[in-house]
Amino acid sequence: MDFILVGHNFENDVQTAIQIFFPNRHYYRADKIPEEGFAVKSVLAQNFVGAYFYINGKIENEFTENIDSKNDSDFKYYLKKAVFNVLSGFTKYTPKWGMLTGVRPAKLAGELLKSGMGYNEVIECFKQKFYTSHQKAELALNIYNAEREILLRNKPNDISIYIGIPFCPTRCLYCSFTSYPIDYNKADKYIECLEKELDFIKNVVKSKNICSLYVGGGTPTSLNDKQFEYVMDIINEKFVLNNTKEFSVEAGRPDTITKAKLLSMKKNNVNRISINPQTMNQKTLDIVGRKHTVEDVKNVFYMARENGFFNINMDLILGLPKETIYDVKNTMEEIVKLSPESVTVHTLAVKRASALKEKLYSYNLSEADEMEKMLDICADYSKSIELEPYYMYRQKAMLGNFENVGYCKKGAESIYNIEIMEEKQTIIAAGAGASTKIYYPETDAVERIFNVKSVDDYISRIDEMIERKAKMLG
Ligand code: SF4
Repeated sequence: MDFILVGHNFENDVQTAIQIFFPNRHYYRADKIPEEGFAVKSVLAQNFVGAYFYINGKIENEFTENIDSKNDSDFKYYLKKAVFNVLSGFTKYTPKWGMLTGVRPAKLAGELLKSGMGYNEVIECFKQKFYTSHQKAELALNIYNAEREILLRNKPNDISIYIGIPFCPTRCLYCSFTSYPIDYNKADKYIECLEKELDFIKNVVKSKNICSLYVGGGTPTSLNDKQFEYVMDIINEKFVLNNTKEFSVEAGRPDTITKAKLLSMKKNNVNRISINPQTMNQKTLDIVGRKHTVEDVKNVFYMARENGFFNINMDLILGLPKETIYDVKNTMEEIVKLSPESVTVHTLAVKRASALKEKLYSYNLSEADEMEKMLDICADYSKSIELEPYYMYRQKAMLGNFENVGYCKKGAESIYNIEIMEEKQTIIAAGAGASTKIYYPETDAVERIFNVKSVDDYISRIDEMIERKAKMLG
């Protein structure tokens, strides 16, 4: 797909708008309309914006508008709007989030409310300005309200901690995270370095209140029982967790969860775990390379219950290869029987770093209307077990340009999930690929400190990782 910019240089905004309608393509900036293939030309002139769509050099649709704007943010909005309209007109399709492509629609809803708009005015603004559907505008507002309840409890001295364990038993087809097949020798070295980094963090946070602590990955439970218990123990030795409201562990892959690991977590005050089936259909689990069964998910879930875990999240992905709405219904029926305290429903995102991107064209991935039905099915089943939406984010390259939504029972909201999304609290992160966010309430700004992604680099450059933090955290 080629795109031509005339009178401006807002390449990203134009490309993002094209991606809504033509995802998973290569996009090339061109100087003239190509004789073959699809192309979008966007034009910005004084008081005028236009977008034109071509196929094989022939114009198929156009959208033009007179504007009265002076700043870049307005120009970007009108250009995006023009491209959105020209492609929406040609495809006869209006995505449910309209031209909104941002990660946090709930944040936008909050900003509009704070600007003095009422509930209905915000909904109208989403619909009129961004072409969002009524249902999605309401979702953004409801999530904003749910998140706000949690965020209002933040005290100035509160911080959160993230600890990354980037190992997994195998790599899922759609995975784009920092994750490596488990190698126990390497994991030993990794834990040694992690401990060094945690020792540094311990001193930084000693006068702070650790409000939430999240051990994620990868799949932390990929470590063997001894390594896992060691990590749990050192976390408790190094940090004062008396007032910590949430201590979450990503126990994602059921084939990595053992009774010993559940007991280590229990002993160390973990009060929320994630057991992530992604789907409850065996044929899909086999396709995406998760080497466990649906039965494993159920057995591990009941084992966690028997061992005292009463805040269990389950992650699902909609739009996995060859799944239909009937498969999603089946998944949700099985989930409802288990009745977890929260379910996080993801829309499949085809990321550049995933094996799925390579094999994309051998799968017939779901179209937007089918994705919408799948999302509605999940919302309905979640509601049937009293799970309400409480947090949401969107990513690039999601099928149908939809969203990821966390549903939970009242009181089972993941504080960490909200904090990471809303960026109103400092989160200090340790491990390969972890990124620390320092929040400055006076300016409402966030500064980031990144750790290197690869495990080998993390091990060989651990002192440098600590140095990077020391420079900014003192
Ligand atoms: S379990 Fe998660 S982190 Fe691990 S390979 Fe699968 S998607 Fe990636």
